[in-house]
Amino acid sequence: MMKTENSKKLKERAERVMPGGVNSPVRAFNAVNEIPRFIEKAKGAYIYDADGNKYTDYVGSWGPLILGHNDGRIVEAVKKQLEKGMSYGASTELEVEMAELMTSLVPWCETVRMVNSGTEAVMSAVRLARGFTGRDKIIKFDGCYHGHSDMLLVKAGSGVITQGIPSCLGVPKGCTADTLTARYNDISSVQRLFDEFPGEIACVVTEPVAGNMGVVLPKDGFLKQLRELCTKHGALLIFDEVITGFRLGIGGAAEKFGIRPDLVTYGKIIGGGMPVGAYGGRKDIMSIVSPLGGVYQAGTLSGNPVAMAAGITQLKILRDEPQIYDKINALGERLRAGIRSAADKSGINIKVNGIGSLTTVFFNDTGVSDYDTALLSDTGAYSAYFSHMLESGDYIAPSQFEAMFVSAAHSERDIDDTLSHIEGFFAKL
Ligand SMILES: *Cc1c(COP(=O)(O)O)cnc(C)c1O
Repeated sequence: MMKTENSKKLKERAERVMPGGVNSPVRAFNAVNEIPRFIEKAKGAYIYDADGNKYTDYVGSWGPLILGHNDGRIVEAVKKQLEKGMSYGASTELEVEMAELMTSLVPWCETVRMVNSGTEAVMSAVRLARGFTGRDKIIKFDGCYHGHSDMLLVKAGSGVITQGIPSCLGVPKGCTADTLTARYNDISSVQRLFDEFPGEIACVVTEPVAGNMGVVLPKDGFLKQLRELCTKHGALLIFDEVITGFRLGIGGAAEKFGIRPDLVTYGKIIGGGMPVGAYGGRKDIMSIVSPLGGVYQAGTLSGNPVAMAAGITQLKILRDEPQIYDKINALGERLRAGIRSAADKSGINIKVNGIGSLTTVFFNDTGVSDYDTALLSDTGAYSAYFSHMLESGDYIAPSQFEAMFVSAAHSERDIDDTLSHIEGFFAKL
């Protein structure tokens, strides 16, 4: 058995002074009944815990680390900025550079506002959509997660599922009264809401590829039909690309599927590991954000120069080395093909969903195309799988309803080692 003494001690200390011993619930490993590993350092594809155990990391800080941990170029950029100051509460050239970079790389992101997290980005984009259309109602999909703002904590995917909270305490009914929910991949469920509330729906917000009920791809035509319904009814289409942005390619899921959203939200990758989010889109819409217009939104540390330095460096690397996408997509394919063939060999009925560098192994024999089918997964089997993988030195998401992230720092050798561990688990079943 792997040594876990130091993580155990840290967990006890943490639980005395922090709710559940964590600053974000999934880190507590409750869904998989394991000792949460306290991480001491990381480099490339590997993380090391407080007991000196080394793991191949498939969480990647939940998405930001597309180049792997602690990329030297990002570290240099951060150090250089640190010497000049950590925050000024005033405008900097770095913010202009970041906005120029994002708007030049993503044509439908005509102007952009930086915030500090994905939560803030989506919360602000929805406020803007309501302000712009003068309508209150919004549509979200069951199983999609858009951060923890009150109005969006309705059937909100992974963290909420695996903590067993059916709906969040402390969210007043009034806050979610205008949040309508539809079924992912079921356009008729969206059509019905537009029929029922004509002229009242401000926006449809969606993860264009769902990542927070496990990875679920949009069915052929689903995003296009969403686009058409929004246009027809004067509602805005918001793509929450906090995971997919700059991961499925520079233009994210919007580019991959050829759909132009009105507003787009980012987080994770655009911070290179620092806390960042952003929302952007059509200039006529963005032009009513304060101070230009009446939609107020602000942030003491928004556009923080250290975070901008990290994010700009990561985005420029992705722009200048497009072969990174070829590499991580091929590694993702190799992982999925290997898992499927290992399952076939052992006669195990699982479903592997994925696209590019994002993968989820569902312990589920029906296939997963929406929240209801995701919930049919055997979370007990996932826990056993998780424990086996952890013990084998593979750090995967401590929940059935999350993605495995492959980075540019992973090698074929890393993937193949992980595949042999997965094969070992299937063989035991
Ligand atoms: C992670 C995530 C968020 C929330 O971002 P935070 O930075 O954790 O607040 C929002 N939307 C999606 C799709 C995400 O995956």
